[in-house]
Amino acid sequence: MKGIVFTGDKAEVLDGLEVREPGAGEVIVKVMAAGVCHSDVTAAAGAFGWPSPAVLGHEGAGIVEKVGTGVTHVVEGDHVIISTLAACGVCKACAQGKPTRCRQTLGNMAQPFTLNGEACWNFAAASVFTERTVVRGFQAVKIPKDVPFTSACLVGCGVMTGAGAVLYRSDVKIGQTAVVYGCGGVGLNAIQALRVKRASRIIAIDTEPEKEALARQFGATDFLNGRDEDIVEQVRRLVPYSETELSGPFNAGGVDWVYDVVGHPAVTSNALEMLDWGGTVVIIGTPGGDATFTLPYQRFTQNERAVIGCRAGSYSPHSDMLQIIDLYRRGEFMLDELVTATYPLEGFHDAVHDMHSGAVARGVLTIG
Ligand SMILES: [Zn+2]
Ligand SMILES: [Zn+2]
Repeated sequence: MKGIVFTGDKAEVLDGLEVREPGAGEVIVKVMAAGVCHSDVTAAAGAFGWPSPAVLGHEGAGIVEKVGTGVTHVVEGDHVIISTLAACGVCKACAQGKPTRCRQTLGNMAQPFTLNGEACWNFAAASVFTERTVVRGFQAVKIPKDVPFTSACLVGCGVMTGAGAVLYRSDVKIGQTAVVYGCGGVGLNAIQALRVKRASRIIAIDTEPEKEALARQFGATDFLNGRDEDIVEQVRRLVPYSETELSGPFNAGGVDWVYDVVGHPAVTSNALEMLDWGGTVVIIGTPGGDATFTLPYQRFTQNERAVIGCRAGSYSPHSDMLQIIDLYRRGEFMLDELVTATYPLEGFHDAVHDMHSGAVARGVLTIG
């Protein structure tokens, strides 16, 4: 079978892949659609130091083709979203409903594939840029058959990362205010989750002005250009301390939540300056490596601000992915609109090019 394979310094569309039989507790999924997420591009550039060859792709949906012994929650023919969280199900984090903190969800390097007979690595416990993949049963989340695969696949990563930061990592109250810093596939989902939570002001920030229409479509009440030097002041003008002052004591005024989808020291510092007393910056994006930022103590201690990290949306697959699908089917959460273009497997490089040009919310590969 064909797939998009990381060959050491780039990604190539190659034929000659095979996947092994499912072991106990595992599932073979015939992949129908897969979203192209930034992490795949980062991996393809060799930035993660992932071993090669490896089958890329981690945002997928498909049809259960075969189940290993002990798998009872799905059967052949079921439609599923593939979660990247290969959680163990029994550790303290899993028992508390926080599988994003399960140690077994990190790494998970294995060689379930062969490429022309030679062992070939997986990626992100998913490897959905191919026709068939093998995952832990826990990762296969059964969904209704009326949800298009091209929309369902996005729930595998980008949707949960953005929406989950709002719905499961935060405690947004009706009428609160928020900034979403970065309006790509992840940020748009933070924006629409804030709409679900009935935030009164959802301020979108991006360096690409052409993102404004999309941001507003997904629920942004305001849009600001992230390149503007006075971006903090612009936010404070929208949510000032009082009718006459932008900022009060200890920087009072500003928003209750900032979702930092970018993950850059300058953005995180700005984010903190946008917060009202009691506000929280939720860091979603990551610059990787050992990048650091510095922050003044006084912003925290006198007024109870916080900066917290969020991994993959802090979601629990079998409850939270289904909650998103339920919202979608009731017309309260947009998935179809996130898919701005579809490509065959061979069109992977076009999808990456379009993603970098800012022209798409999400490019999706149609595989099955
Ligand atoms: Zn991703
Ligand atoms: Zn666990």
